[in-house]
Amino acid sequence: MVWTTGVRASSLTEQIPAERDRQGRLHVDANLKVIGQDDIFATGDVAYAATDDIGNFALMTCQHAISLGRHAGNNVAAQILGVAPTPYSQPKYVTCLDLGAWGAVYTEGWDRQVKLVKEEGKSLKTQINTQWIYPPAADRTSALAAADPMIPVVA
Ligand SMILES: Cc1cc2nc3c(=O)[nH]c(=O)nc-3n(C[C@H](O)[C@H](O)[C@H](O)COP(=O)(O)OP(=O)(O)OC[C@H]3O[C@@H](n4cnc5c(N)ncnc54)[C@H](O)[C@@H]3O)c2cc1C
Repeated sequence: MVWTTGVRASSLTEQIPAERDRQGRLHVDANLKVIGQDDIFATGDVAYAATDDIGNFALMTCQHAISLGRHAGNNVAAQILGVAPTPYSQPKYVTCLDLGAWGAVYTEGWDRQVKLVKEEGKSLKTQINTQWIYPPAADRTSALAAADPMIPVVA
C-alpha cells in the first residue's frame, strides 16, 4: 500500500491566535513557545519548529515528536519555576522505510544518504517499532528519566 494523503495538525491549533504553516502547525521559537504568546507552548505534530540553524524544520514524525515533547515539557516547567529553558535542537535527521519482505531502507541526513538496506534496515525498523517509540514504564522515576531533553532520539 502506498499512502499519499499527507498529514495535518489538530484543528485545536486554530483556537490560538498565532501564525500557522500550511499543515496548521503553530510557529514556535527555539524554546517551543508559540510566537506572540507568553504562556502557550506547542510541540510534536502541532509545532512548526526549527531543528537547526540552516533552515530545516521538524516533520510530523516520531523522531521529532519525541524530542519536541521532552523539550516542551522541560520548558513549561522551567517557565513555572523561573529557570532557564533548554532550546530545542535536533540537527540529525534519519528515515527508515519498511518495504515488506524485501527489508527496509535506512537513510541519514536531509539529503537521505542510504546507510542500511534489506535485513540490516529491517532489523533497525523492527527495533524502532517495538522499542524506541514506546513510552516508558508508568512510574515516576522512569518517566522523569525518559523526559530529559538531552537524550538524543537518534545518536
Ligand atoms: C497512520 C500513521 C502512521 C505513522 N507512521 C509513522 C512512522 O512510521 N514513522 C514516524 O516517525 N511517524 C509516523 N507517524 C507520525 C507520528 O505518529 C506522529 O508524528 C506522532 O505520533 C506525533 O506525536 P504527538 O505527541 O505530537 O501527537 P499524537 O501522538 O497524535 O498525540 C496527541 C494526543 O493528544 C490527544 N488529544 C487530541 N485532542 C485532545 C484533546 N482535545 N484533549 C485531550 N487530548 C487530546 C490524542 O488523543 C493523542 O493521544 C504516523 C502517523 C500516522 C497517523
